[in-house]
Formats: sequence, C-alpha cells, structure tokens
Amino acid sequence: MQGKDMPGVNGGGPMWSQLLNRDPSELPSHNSEDELMLGYRDPGMESLDYEVVESVAYREDQAQRGIWHHASYITLKWTFSLLIGIGTGLAAFLINIAVENFSGWKFAATFALMKYSTFLGLVIYIAFNAALVFSSVYIITQFAPAAAGSGIPEIKAYLNGVDTPGILLFRTLIGKVLGSIGSVGGGLALGKEGPLVHTGACIASVLGQGGSTKYHVNWRWLRRFKNDRDRRDLVTCGCAAGVAAAFRAPVGGVLFALEEVTSWWRSQLLWRVFFTSAVVAVVVRTAMGWCKHGNCGHFGSGGFIIWDISGGQDDYSFFELLPMAMLGAIGGLLGALFNQLTIWISTWRRNVLHRRGTRVKIIEVLLVSLITSMLSFGLPMMTTCKPCPDPVKYPSVICPRPSGNYGNYVNFFCPNENQYNDLATIFFNTQDDAIRNLFSTNTPHEYSTRSLLTFLVMFFVLAVLTYGTAVPSGQFVPGIMIGATYGRLVGILVVNASSKDSVDEGTYALLGAASFLGGSMRMTVSLCVIMVEITNNLQLLPLIMLVLLISKAVGDAFNSGFYEEQVKLRSLPLLESRPQRFMRNLAAKDASGTRKIVQFSRVSKVGHIVAVLRSTNHNGFPVVDKLQTGEPVVIGLILRSYLLVLLQAKTDFQRTPTLGDTRDRRNFRYDVRDFTKPVSSKGISIYDIDISAQEMEMYIDLQPFVNPTPYIVPEDMSLTKVYNLFRQLGLRHICVVPRPSQVVGVITRKDLLPEVLEERESLEEMLSSR
Ligand code: ATP
Ligand code: MG
Repeated sequence: MQGKDMPGVNGGGPMWSQLLNRDPSELPSHNSEDELMLGYRDPGMESLDYEVVESVAYREDQAQRGIWHHASYITLKWTFSLLIGIGTGLAAFLINIAVENFSGWKFAATFALMKYSTFLGLVIYIAFNAALVFSSVYIITQFAPAAAGSGIPEIKAYLNGVDTPGILLFRTLIGKVLGSIGSVGGGLALGKEGPLVHTGACIASVLGQGGSTKYHVNWRWLRRFKNDRDRRDLVTCGCAAGVAAAFRAPVGGVLFALEEVTSWWRSQLLWRVFFTSAVVAVVVRTAMGWCKHGNCGHFGSGGFIIWDISGGQDDYSFFELLPMAMLGAIGGLLGALFNQLTIWISTWRRNVLHRRGTRVKIIEVLLVSLITSMLSFGLPMMTTCKPCPDPVKYPSVICPRPSGNYGNYVNFFCPNENQYNDLATIFFNTQDDAIRNLFSTNTPHEYSTRSLLTFLVMFFVLAVLTYGTAVPSGQFVPGIMIGATYGRLVGILVVNASSKDSVDEGTYALLGAASFLGGSMRMTVSLCVIMVEITNNLQLLPLIMLVLLISKAVGDAFNSGFYEEQVKLRSLPLLESRPQRFMRNLAAKDASGTRKIVQFSRVSKVGHIVAVLRSTNHNGFPVVDKLQTGEPVVIGLILRSYLLVLLQAKTDFQRTPTLGDTRDRRNFRYDVRDFTKPVSSKGISIYDIDISAQEMEMYIDLQPFVNPTPYIVPEDMSLTKVYNLFRQLGLRHICVVPRPSQVVGVITRKDLLPEVLEERESLEEMLSSR
C-alpha cells in the first residue's frame, strides 16, 4: 500500500517540512473557539488516561501474565495502602510535633520577655511569627509553588481526570510538609488539615510511581503502578489518609474521600481506603504514645486535634431546636459570605497582585503575618480581665492556671492573680488549644460577648485575607474557630433565656463549628462523622446532622461550595456529577464542533507524524486503514504519548510503507509500561525528540499500538447521555461517528451474566481455558 494512497497521509508533500522549521508558538490555533476556551485549554493542564488501552501490545502483555502476576499485583496494592497509611500518619505526626514545639518556644520566649517589657514581648512575638512564615513562603515561592494553598481543589480535579502540573511531585510533598509547619507554627489564620490531604495524596503518588527519578530515588519494580488508573486509586487512599491523620477520624477520612474528592468509586477501593485510614489511626496513636512523658518537647496534650467534649450537654429540650436551627442558618449565610469574599480576593490576587512577582508574594505574606501578630497580641492587651469563676460552684475549673499562660483561663498578665483574660485564651494561643477552649464544657460565661464578637470579626477577616497567600493553607481549622465563636455567642443567649442548668455553651460552640463548615464546604455526611469522631460525643449526632443540613441548604442558595468555587477560579476543567439542563437539547456533534479531524493512516510517514504532533495539541488521533474494497475504516485511536514513545524508540521505523506482521508476537519490542508517562508532567515532548532527515522519510505501522475499541457515540446522541458516559467511565476521548448502517447484534443485561456466557457454545473453548 502506498503512503500517498492512504487516507490521512498528506502525500509526502512539503507541508510537514515547513511546519518542522517553525516555532511552536507561531503555529495557528484551530479556531476562535479555542481562544474562548483558553483558560480551560491550558496546555499545562492535561487530562488523565483512565481508560485501559487494549492495544495488541497490551493484550500480548496480558496473555503472558498468569495467576501469580495477578496475585502479586493485588498484594502490592494492599502493601501500598499500608505504606500510604504509615507515611501519612508519620507526616502528620512530624508536622504536629514541629508546630507544637515552634509555638511552644515562641510563647515561652514571648512570656519570658514580657516580664521585663511588653514591647520587647511584642517584638519577639512578631519576629518569631515572621521568621516561621518567611520560611514557609520562601519554600513555596522558590522550591515548590504547587504546594501553595490547600491542594484539595487540585486533588479533586486530579481524581476527576485533570492533571495540574507539579501537583503530586516529591518536591511538592516536601514543600507542603515544611511549608505547613512554617505557616501554622507562625500563627496565621489557617490550618494544616487541607494540606495534610494533599500530603497524603503526594505520598501515595510518589510511592506509586516508584519514587522520584529527579532525586534518584527510584525503584524500577514499582513501575507497575506508573499509570493513571492505578495512581488514581492510590491518590484516593492518600486523601482519606490525610483526613484520617489530620482529625484522627478514620471513618471521616473514608467518607471525605467518597463525598468530597473522588469522582469514581468502587467497592474494592472502599476496602483499601478503609484499611489505609485504619493504619493511619494506629500509627498516630502509637506515635503519640512515644511522646507521653514529655519526650517530644512542647508536644503533649495539645497537638493532634481531639476535643473530647463528652462532659457536655447530654440532652436537649424541644425549644433548643430553634436556636440550633438558627445556628445552621447563620452558618449557611456566613459560610457563603466567606466563600464569596475569598473568591473576590483570590481573583484579584491571581490577576493583579501575584503577577508582580515573587517578591510581592513574600511581602504580602509577611504583611499578613504582621497584622495577625499585632491583632492577636494587641487585642487581648486591651481587654479587661474577668474574675475567675466561683471555685465552689465550678470545682472542675482551674483558674488561674498554675502555669500562668497555657491552657484554658490564662492569666495573661492580669493585675489580679484571681483573674483571667478571656480574649487571650482564644486569640493568643495555638489554634488547637483555642478550639479546645472554645469547646470547653461546664464553663458558663467563660467568655464575654464583647470578646467573642471581637474575635469573630477579626478572625473572620484574617482568615479571608490569609487564604490564597503563597503558603500552604487549610480551611478546616479557621472554619471551626469562626463557627465555634458564634456558636458560643448563641449559646450565651440560650443559657440566659433558659431556666435549665443543662444547657451548655460548649455544645453550641461545637454545633456552630459544624454549621460554618457545612455552610462553607457544603459537605454533610463526612463532616458529620468527622465532628463526632473528634469530639467523642455520639449523643450530639442528630443535632449535628440537623445543623449541617440547614447550613448546606442555606449556603447552596447563594453560591457553590468552597472547593468547587476554588476549582472554577483556577479554571480546572472539572466535570460535575450531573450534566447541565441545557445539554438535553444538544447533541454529540454540537460539542465536537466542525473541526477537521486530524487522523493518521495505519502506515504513516514519520515526518508527517512529527509535523502533526508539532502543529496540534491533540492527545488522541483516529487511525484509519483501507478495506480490500478500498473503503476507509477506522481501526482505532492512538494517543500522543504512544506516538512519542514510538518516535523516541525508533525501533519500529521501516523504510517502505508496508504493513508490519502483527500476528508475529516477536514483533513487539515494547513493554506496555513503556507507554505510560511520569506523574504530573507532560512526559516527553515532541520537541525533545531528535529525528534525522533520513528518519523523517521512513514509515511506521501504527496498528499494534492503537486502542482498537475506543468509545464511540452516534453524532445525534444527546449531550446529556454523552456527558454521563464520559463522566461515569472517566474517559479522555469519545469519537463521534455517523449513524451506523447496520446492527450485528444486541446485548441485554442477561447476556453478560457469566452463567449465560458459559452456556454459549461458541465461547465454550475460550472459557474452559480460563
Ligand atoms: P486534553 O485534556 O486531553 O489535552 P484538550 O481539551 O486539551 O484535551 P485537545 O486534544 O487539545 O483537547 O483538543 C482540542 C479540541 O480539538 C477539542 O475540542 C476536540 O474536540 C478537538 N480534537 C481533539 N482531538 C482531535 C483530532 N484528532 N482531530 C480533530 N479535532 C480534535
Ligand atoms: Mg490539552
């Protein structure tokens, strides 16, 4: 068969040689639609290939694999789940130890100097915070830019099928861990929980791809998991592990992965995710055991989040449901406001401020740190002290603290020993301790309304300002602090209005926290379980459910959830679980447009392939052959990544445009794994491949490497159906074809049952060799 006779081959004319000499930036875009979609067509943001390419090479590989191969594959998957659990648990432990110790040294130094001069105390406090925050922003801007922010929107997009460059690299992992220590230890209004989800995902991905080639930590035998499909499962385990480690909430972790981040879920995956979360719980518990007797410096009772409020309200009266529902509504309103404000500020940052360079990013974070330090130090200083509660009436309350300034009821230089500073108790403290103090039960009227209001307004503003700066930042802890504060305010109202002693402000603080998270993040089941797991109080479950449902409903009336909004802001092409209504009136051909199809002949000229790869950004190309009658026939779809491997290897180049003998198995010189690309990068680029002029004139038979059965839809299939197919199967390409001229068979549900198939005579031989 001559090359110029074949469809798709441009006759060996001068076109490819002209294109080869042009700078890629000069190449024309396809049409104006592309420009409109520029945000979503960022060449750095490529889709992932979750579909199994059942090429001849793949089938060849599978045919050689026996039962042992399958068994070792499954064993390895479980081993990975174990390792991800251990790795994430240890990373969380490391972050907590470091944050607690840095904070401990900071507060110790500040209090020591404040005995001599308040000003000196303030200076050392600001300097300590600034140094920690600087370490964080420096690492992010110079070393691991992809580690900025929470990482959850990017991971969510990754599990939906979009690869953001650099998001799962080893350097991102290091940047995330070290950056979180600096930003959380430096007292900024952000948390370490979101970053821990990202950390878990990075650990999973790095393990799955057999280490990092760049840092020469690479195990070749782990290459088996170096494909998008397996990596997706591992990253899901990593996400669940991150939440399990952050909150010590293993079940919450599984549900978080299921509800918030993943787009595809299978029962086998559920078991592995559950196993990983359980491993995390054991690792964290064991690691905390090592630190029991002050072995880990300042890390002790605080650190890991677990706010046991089992001593709180164990019953509630009917009239309390009203203020609780009100909390839900406030949570929905404030959560939606928080989302909206962060979108506005983040948009401005991305479009204006952060375009001015690294220095501006560093100065911005340092300014935010300065404001945070001044407010958290200055405002408690201006607050009037409160007398300690009556020790006879409240025997469980320790006031004043023997240690002076740690724990609840801190004295914070009140003139009288029997006094405490309520604002310092929550503002001048580590976040975990502040939350514990806000949730504290059986301590009525611990905080004045004025202090709570001051903290609420200031912290809300700080949290909005801080999110989006160039440091790793999570939204869970700020959300809990904001919610707990107005929850406690509502609690004060209820305590004052109620004649019952059982009403507890701490319980309202917890419900407030749940309501704000629900109103901002719009999660329900996972948040509910996380809240129950961190508070160890099952009795509050129905109330938390009520509050979460109301806050989500109210929030949804205004905008989308926090992560969804952030996904949109970053122009990540995420496919939501449901298609839009208007898609019902559109067909597949409306979405694919009127572009001329770029395709290859079965035997194509190397020069033509190179020219096409240079002139387009497409990642999938139909491959066509000719029937004996001369009719063209589509024999499959070939991926760009496959073509690049073939061009680089050059082993299949042939001098004449003849068909390779695909039946001879010795012809395949590739391992299927050769065709996979490294994580979070575009792999090899066409511009990296050196091909001589002589090689350009050679040919290659693409047939063994095509996906012979890509998903195809008739052109008039409704877009809703196409969307569901695409989303549910995690596809990257769907080929749109004209209505077929004939039907060769119909398959129903029962045809797919193994027992029905076994009875088919034509299949007997094949099935008996299973
Ligand atoms: P990915 O995330 O896989 O990179 P993309 O959205 O960036 O996908 P491209 O492959 O760059 O998509 O394709 C851009 C547009 O061109 C798509 O709208 C698609 O309809 C169309 N297209 C894709 N492949 C081909 C092809 N082989 N021939 C013609 N048009 C194509
Ligand atoms: Mg693309």
